[in-house]
Amino acid sequence: MSIVFLNGSYMPMSEAKISPLDRGFLFGDGIYEVIPSYQGNLLGFGPHIDRMNDGFKGIGLNVDWSHQQWKILCEDLASKNGNSNLGIYLQVSRGADTKRYHAFPENVEPTVFGFTFKIPEPPIADKAIAKGYKVSTAEDLRWQRCHIKSTALLGNVLHFQQGYEQGHDETLLFNANNELTEASSCNAFIVKDGTLITPPLDNQLLPGITRYMLLDILRKDGTIPVEERAITKQEVLDADEVWISSSTKEVGAVIQVDGSPVGDGKVGNVWLAAQRLFSAHKFNY
Ligand code: PLP
Repeated sequence: MSIVFLNGSYMPMSEAKISPLDRGFLFGDGIYEVIPSYQGNLLGFGPHIDRMNDGFKGIGLNVDWSHQQWKILCEDLASKNGNSNLGIYLQVSRGADTKRYHAFPENVEPTVFGFTFKIPEPPIADKAIAKGYKVSTAEDLRWQRCHIKSTALLGNVLHFQQGYEQGHDETLLFNANNELTEASSCNAFIVKDGTLITPPLDNQLLPGITRYMLLDILRKDGTIPVEERAITKQEVLDADEVWISSSTKEVGAVIQVDGSPVGDGKVGNVWLAAQRLFSAHKFNY
């Protein structure tokens, strides 16, 4: 039985109870994070907590935990749950009010919840065993604040389901101008003529921590050029490689978009080189 954290106490998952008036439940009024932990080593801890704090600010939620307090919580959750390969899920909602009313409540403590779930072994730079992802495409119909890691994920859930129902792993999303934003639960990239290209950060996509680490590692290394710019749907369809990234997948190569092969339909050489660099440097964050 997994051990979770709820409002100051650790307990078995089955004992964790939250009020039905919790605004996270009623409105999706909360912020969350997922931090990977490999044998107790947290990946990208500082940037994850910074992003969570940006989310609190973005929705006007007052949470004054220090990085150190979050670190103790994450390390405790990992060790109480066996320190294997874990995703550490943190969620803070605007708390449980006494009524259902849209305005922010006063004098209500945020609900702080944390639990862990098993994540796969991280990918290694070996084309023979690398998973090749298959994705669908769809118009991005989510809200205009996708930079906030909100627990209100129904838009993302519906887009994920579109791909899932076609037997695919993800759905790549395109705005009304037919430009790539991200995927329903990942950031997205293309490779053309050896250059890695990804959409710039704005309100249309989550500032992914894996994306941040990958771009930083590649820029410091310098062998794979990186561009942040708008990418049209046609460029995705003509790309040599397409990648997706998230904390639980790390960087994954897409081998099919809407049933058509990406490049030669196999995991590409630029992914291989980037994965080598990512594996070598990821614990510096
Ligand atoms: N974009 C969306 C919509 C996501 O939900 C996620 C991860 O959950 C990402 C991108 C990737 O972010 P990260 O690399 O921080 O996990």
